[in-house]
Amino acid sequence: MSGVDPPDFNSPSQIRSFLTARGFNPQKRFGQNFLIQPNARAEIINELELTGGESVWEIGPGIGQMTFELLKRAGEVTVFEIDRGFIAILRELFSEHPRLRIVEGDVLKTWPSEAERFGSNEGEEAASARPFLVGNLPYNAASAILRSLVEHNYLPRRTVITVQKELADRIVAEPGSTAYSSFSLLCRLAWDVRAGMVLKPGNFYPRPEVDSRVVVLKPRGDQPEEAVRVEALHLLRCLFASRRKTIRNNLQSCLPGGRQAAETCCRSAGIDPGGRPGEISVDLLISLASQVLDYRRRDS
Ligand code: SAM
Repeated sequence: MSGVDPPDFNSPSQIRSFLTARGFNPQKRFGQNFLIQPNARAEIINELELTGGESVWEIGPGIGQMTFELLKRAGEVTVFEIDRGFIAILRELFSEHPRLRIVEGDVLKTWPSEAERFGSNEGEEAASARPFLVGNLPYNAASAILRSLVEHNYLPRRTVITVQKELADRIVAEPGSTAYSSFSLLCRLAWDVRAGMVLKPGNFYPRPEVDSRVVVLKPRGDQPEEAVRVEALHLLRCLFASRRKTIRNNLQSCLPGGRQAAETCCRSAGIDPGGRPGEISVDLLISLASQVLDYRRRDS
């Protein structure tokens, strides 16, 4: 069921001629750097741990180098692509492949309605019906995509992404390290995180300016209850308003009881209110969110 022959996806010159023949060039604004390393593609797909027949979402298929491989290993493959030129190419390459769905537009806007196809978002059964997610994510949208999944509490069964190494380092950073940030905590609220291989610029065409890294995300085994999760996300914004300030000083502006409330909630959660936000682990954040919720209930 395939259309025209694809270029050799490992050859920059063939990719270039394939695009030029159709009047296209890779665009920086959409983070279009193609992975030209077959072993890296294979390893990324292996990290998904597919057993066959699973639904997979691919963000940013580009001209389909990963998509071809995914269609060999998965069931239905849904690709989210913003570039109209690439969408035309995908249609040309895959013709009317019966297991490929092409979703056009900005994935930040299109994924929620695709998620509805997988039914309710509640409970364990719903979680195991969700798709897997893979993508060599566009640099400029990677963190917004992850944030959007966490904020909607829509966690694919397993997520394997390639992102700028600096962002990967923030995702997997440990409390107290310089890379640790509110984004590290946001990701940890949702996922167990693991850093995978580093990909140097030479693995891509065109060469990006920075290293990339694969990250594997698995939904946390013990998901906090919904109200606690929402409070934790809210607290993240307060706690990291200023990294240099103490936890107490950041927190006091968000609680109706101000400084006193911040002090009480921290102590009940086992947190030193005089510490810095960059020292809080995800378990302490969850515990703080729970204390803050109790405090708000008592106060109302
Ligand atoms: N999948 C190819 C690969 O692995 O080599 C290309 C990956 S390239 C880094 C990023 C892809 O994401 C491009 O195809 C780009 O057009 C697409 N893209 C960029 N922003 C997007 C967005 N907001 N929504 C959907 N696709 C986007």
